[in-house]
Amino acid sequence: MRLIYGRILIVIWSLEIETQLDGQHWDRRKRLIHGEMLCSGVLRRLSAHAIAGTLGSKTMGHLKVKLVNNKSKIVNPKAFTLIELLVVIAIIALLMAILVPVLRSAREKGQRIVCMSNLKQLTLAWITYAEEYDSKIVFGSAFAFGSWDIPPKGWLGMAFFYPESRIELMENPDKGALWPYIKDIDFFRCQKGLAGHAATYATVPSANGDTVPGTHLSRYDPPLFKGLSPWSIPSKRIGGTVLRLTRLTDIISPGSAQRAVFIDYGQTPDPSDFRVHYLYPIWRWSCPPQIRHDDGTTLSMADGHVEYWKWKGRETVEMPRKLVPMRAGLFKESLDGGDYEPKTEDGIYDLQRLQKATWGRIGYTLEGGP
Ligand SMILES: [Zn+2]
Repeated sequence: MRLIYGRILIVIWSLEIETQLDGQHWDRRKRLIHGEMLCSGVLRRLSAHAIAGTLGSKTMGHLKVKLVNNKSKIVNPKAFTLIELLVVIAIIALLMAILVPVLRSAREKGQRIVCMSNLKQLTLAWITYAEEYDSKIVFGSAFAFGSWDIPPKGWLGMAFFYPESRIELMENPDKGALWPYIKDIDFFRCQKGLAGHAATYATVPSANGDTVPGTHLSRYDPPLFKGLSPWSIPSKRIGGTVLRLTRLTDIISPGSAQRAVFIDYGQTPDPSDFRVHYLYPIWRWSCPPQIRHDDGTTLSMADGHVEYWKWKGRETVEMPRKLVPMRAGLFKESLDGGDYEPKTEDGIYDLQRLQKATWGRIGYTLEGGP
């Protein structure tokens, strides 16, 4: 029925055009105007039929010739139909869905490689410093503005403590003890660091950093240590393991390939280091595991090599997603709800893996743990 209707319209339209051309009292302009009006009306009808596929190619060819001859509104045969456009959009959306995750993964791997390279440079500087200072390890606190007694110089320096700009950071002479061995501010910052964070790496506390319960002798016992700053108090030694390292020669068992030094902290370190407990099976509220490298973290070892750890425990990865700002817009974030004790086997594994790399061993027993 549609086909018949379309053909009737074509015939009527053709006769009209011919009549106009033969008329004596129609001037050229009137003929053209009338032709345009007629064609536009027919076009509207025919386009619906053409989309529905009810018109044959022969009819369509006839229509095109007539339209061109009358200099009327022209249907570009190369234009997209709505359906074709939708198909193209669907194909593009499909390609995007496939390619975006791949590109994102490639970008993360590139950033991770840069991050590990930074850690490598920092750790080589850390080793070189100790070799130049009679095996003594650089003070592990980043900024080291202690006031107990004359504090050693921190490895990072106050210049990195939230500078106003990159230029200010470069020009500030208050760089830390490792600066002479690197002298490039880009090595102190992971590319995935937040805006405004000039440095993103921290030492673990066993690398001559803050004192952690259970890892050093008491300040008051023996009385000889009374009045000394925390970093002057001798470390505890258990068998061949020195918990808190102050000299390279302290690293005996486990060896230097198993003792962590720097970790990608995730934000500019505050005056403390990345606090890892020794006595307790918990993540400290202020130092949750970092997950920004594809749900894993990067860290370096005392022999200079760098590792990437993909966390095994789902809770290890989920927990840091519930971070809350500790000081809005400035300092680190912290765990909502305080310290976190993992419950699953994989979660416990993740925590103990970092505790062992930090202290050489763990200071507690855990029933059911690995
Ligand atoms: Zn990083």
